[in-house]
Amino acid sequence: MDTKVLLPTEENIALAASLLNSGEVVGMPTETVYGLAASAYDPLAVEKIFRAKGRPQDNPLIVHIHSMEQLGEVAARVPDCALRLAERFWPGPLTMIFEKSEKIPLAVTAGLSTVAVRFPSHKVARALLEAAGMPLAAPSANLSGRPSPTTANHVYNDLNGRIPAILDGGACEVGLESTVVLLRDEENAALLRPGAVTVQMLEEAIPHVVLDKGVLQALSPGEQALSPGMLHRHYSPRANLVIVDSDFQSFCAFVESHAEGAGAMVFDGEESALPVPCVTFGRQGDPIIQARLLFSALRAVDGMGVRTIYARMPDQEGMGLAIYNRLLRAAGFEVITL
Ligand code: AMP
Ligand code: MG
Repeated sequence: MDTKVLLPTEENIALAASLLNSGEVVGMPTETVYGLAASAYDPLAVEKIFRAKGRPQDNPLIVHIHSMEQLGEVAARVPDCALRLAERFWPGPLTMIFEKSEKIPLAVTAGLSTVAVRFPSHKVARALLEAAGMPLAAPSANLSGRPSPTTANHVYNDLNGRIPAILDGGACEVGLESTVVLLRDEENAALLRPGAVTVQMLEEAIPHVVLDKGVLQALSPGEQALSPGMLHRHYSPRANLVIVDSDFQSFCAFVESHAEGAGAMVFDGEESALPVPCVTFGRQGDPIIQARLLFSALRAVDGMGVRTIYARMPDQEGMGLAIYNRLLRAAGFEVITL
C-alpha cells in the first residue's frame, strides 16, 4: 500500500471521509498530536488501527466527536460536571471518560464499559468529522512505543505503507496528547493524563482534581490502572534516555564525565556549554513551546547516533506537568538526582 499525504482541501477531506466510510483508517491532524482515525462504530475498521500501530490490545482509544449531540450518542450518561467542563474546554485538548453507549463496540474501549471522548478544535479534524458523519476513534498516529507525531511527516515515517492516507494540516499547535480526566462525582475528578488543560484550569469547573498514581509513578504490570495506556512503554527514542535533575552547572559536569556515546537534550541556548551532540526543546520556563517541540526532539535523538541521552529536568508547574509526564515515560522513569 502506498500512503498518500494529502493537503486538506475540500476534495481531499471528502476523499478521506469516503475512506473512513468504507472501513479504512486515515491519519488526521488535531491540535494535540496527529491521530489515526477510523469509524468508532465499526469494529473491523478499529481493528485496523491496532494493526497499523502495533498497539497493545488492552489500550483503549479516544472517540472524537464534533457536536454535543454526538456525545449523547457515544456516552450512556452525561453528568452535569461534564457539561461544565465541556462548556469551558471543548472544542479543545480535554478528554473525559463516560459510561459507553451500546453503539460503541468493545474493540474501541479495549473491553472496558467506559469510553474516552474528546471534541477537537482543529479545523481539519472538525471538517473530517463532519464529512465522515460519524464519531472517529483515534489514538496517536505513531507506531506503538514511538514518540507521538506532531507533523504529517512523523506519521509518514512511522506508518508509510501501513495506511492509505494522511491529511497534512501542518505542525500541531499543542504538541502533546490531550488531558484525560475521570469524573468521580460533581465535586471530584481524577487526572489520568496531564495535558494542555492543566489541573488549575480544571479546578475552575470541578473543585477537587487529584493526580492518578500513574501520572508520576511507574505502575507494575498487572497493577490496576485507571488509564490502561499508563502501563505501556511510550515516546521512546532508540537511545536510552535519562533525566538529570540538577542545576545547569552540575548537569554539564555530569555529562562531561559520561560523554562517551552520549548526547544531551537541553533548553535553547545551553548547547554550546556541552561537549556532546545536543537537541533542544525550547526555552527553560516556557512550557507551551517545550510541549510543541518535545516529540520532535525525541525523534531527532534517533538521528544523533548516541547510546545514551541525558535530558534536563523540566519545571512541573502548570503545563510543565504534562511535559515531565511524557519525558518520564520516554526515560522509562530513570531519573538521576545530583
Ligand atoms: P492515545 O490516543 O494513543 O493518546 O491513547 C489514549 C489514552 O486514553 C489511552 O492510552 C488510555 O490511557 C486513555 N483512555 C482511553 N480510553 C479510556 C478509558 N475508557 N478509561 C481510561 N482511560 C482511557
Ligand atoms: Mg499514543
